Amino acid sequence: MLSVRNLSASFHTRAGIVRAVRNVSFDVAPGETLGIVGESGSGKSVTCYSMMGLIPMPPGRIESGSAMLDGTDLLHCPEKELRSIRGKRISMIFQDPMTSLNPYLTIGEQVAEPLVIHEGAGKKEARDRALEQLALVGIPDAEQRMDAYPHQFSGGMRQRVMIAMALITRPEILIADEPTTALDVTVQKQVLDLIRKLQQDMGTSVILITHDLGVIALIRDLQKELKFPTIYITHDLGVVRQYADRINVMYAGRIVESAPARELLEHPRHAYTRALMKSIPGLHAKGSPLYTIPGLPPNMMQEPCGCSFRPRNTLGNPELCLTDREPELVEISPGHSVQNCPGCLAGNQ
Ligand code: ADP
Ligand code: MG
Repeated sequence: MLSVRNLSASFHTRAGIVRAVRNVSFDVAPGETLGIVGESGSGKSVTCYSMMGLIPMPPGRIESGSAMLDGTDLLHCPEKELRSIRGKRISMIFQDPMTSLNPYLTIGEQVAEPLVIHEGAGKKEARDRALEQLALVGIPDAEQRMDAYPHQFSGGMRQRVMIAMALITRPEILIADEPTTALDVTVQKQVLDLIRKLQQDMGTSVILITHDLGVIALIRDLQKELKFPTIYITHDLGVVRQYADRINVMYAGRIVESAPARELLEHPRHAYTRALMKSIPGLHAKGSPLYTIPGLPPNMMQEPCGCSFRPRNTLGNPELCLTDREPELVEISPGHSVQNCPGCLAGNQ
């Protein structure tokens, strides 16, 4: 349904060109959840904001590519058309609800707003549907609380309000950009469960962005179980799919590995994906120090030449990393693609 091809986006700043997203391609099918995973600064948000026409231009620039949604190229469609798609057919929830909720409007008014803007709903109808939606996302006493203001809500409740607002127009695609990073772990799980439930009810596709491996961390317990061929396996794999059908791993503005969630968790191939997995608390052997990926992501202003993970590659063989050209993403088994850098593929069993 959504098909992104060769998307590249940059920021032309006084200090130089930041190549934030380079040559990214992926598809999202109806009802599917795509997880985008990678360290801070790897280009996850810019990938999604580009499709929504939300990167500031200038300094931002879409250098190339297309993002087709039912015959409309989101990267090249007029702002007016994009405005009618944004918040209606594609919605977003952000990390910090406080920056996206208006402190001067009541919760009820804000949740109803997309209906007024996109569907021309009347006041009464909009209010009724907002109430229904707030109840659906689990706001207790929704009737009374509709007239409260954002600061009167807890972080978790504000996140629910944002989900209600994002889903009230029944969008085809929901982009959740680190939706739970600011929340504590139990609330995180509740919010992710809620997104999942609403997604199933409505058939919405979800793109879930996370830097802290939220997608993977939440399923790490079942991953531990994978080692034991018991009845839990089925259960576990169900949970894997609970949050993501497919995972794209991004590094330095590019996709380094992409596979169905289960395949990626069981057979990570790229040294960076393996490093991410190894650094999840709880997955490593008890008593041994937690693995941390050495070094820092590269400066995105430098023209890349060769494999950009080379300086941090401790699980593969950096000596074998490409130095003369950039690795390419190639399919190694059906639906599983990985960058073909010999140094990053080294050390795989
Ligand atoms: P992520 O979401 O993976 O943490 P982003 O997609 O936000 O990362 O950012 C990718 C790169 O683009 C980073 O190097 C970031 O500094 C840069 N970037 C993002 N927005 C801007 C901007 N408005 N101006 C300049 N550089 C930016
Ligand atoms: Mg981001």
